[in-house]
Amino acid sequence: MITRQLQARDIRDPNVLSAMRKVPRHEFVPDTMKKYAYNDEPLPIGEGQTISQPFIVAYMTEILKLDKNHRVLEVGTGSGYQTAVLAEIAHQVFSVEIIASLSQHAKDILLGLGYKNIRFKIGDGSSGWLEHAPYDAVIVTAAPATVPSALEEQLQIGGRMIVPLGEAYQDLVLLSREKKKTKRKTLISVRFVPLVRQE
Ligand code: SAH
Repeated sequence: MITRQLQARDIRDPNVLSAMRKVPRHEFVPDTMKKYAYNDEPLPIGEGQTISQPFIVAYMTEILKLDKNHRVLEVGTGSGYQTAVLAEIAHQVFSVEIIASLSQHAKDILLGLGYKNIRFKIGDGSSGWLEHAPYDAVIVTAAPATVPSALEEQLQIGGRMIVPLGEAYQDLVLLSREKKKTKRKTLISVRFVPLVRQE
């Protein structure tokens, strides 16, 4: 997975490569999917949701330029796999998931693996998690049509956000918050499940 899927596609950040080497992806997929855990593809995790393709997890993490002092907000805990990769590199991860059973399952696995720097919340992540803001980085792993304003507001000046934007098909967009404006850069095309909004 590391050489063929990541290094061959130009993932270079040593922190990202070592996190991807360390996190056991098979722990985050259902029993019937374990034999495919290191394949180059997303996999179903139940509740109609998916664990992202390893390359996409690595790519989104690398773009954030994380270091060990950073506090990260993740929207869409899902299986908890991306959460683990973030927690390997950053100081603290705050992860919000709208489906309670997925959040609980991810929490059980991550605590079982010994992660102590992750906080979990069940709810609509489009409002972010104000209590712990601002964040050095924000990663959204479900696709909204437009960037939820709360997420931009909770991003530290100098901070970076990666988000898949669009409906049936999306582009990954990098937002870099500067003092007076937020810069946007469109990266690669992707497919994520939609970000659902709570009524
Ligand atoms: N990074 C995860 C991807 C999970 S798929 C992984 O690799 O496993 C996206 C997740 O976003 C799903 O679990 C879905 O339930 C969740 N989600 C969708 N809308 C959401 C919202 N408004 N707030 C929080 N989580 C949301």
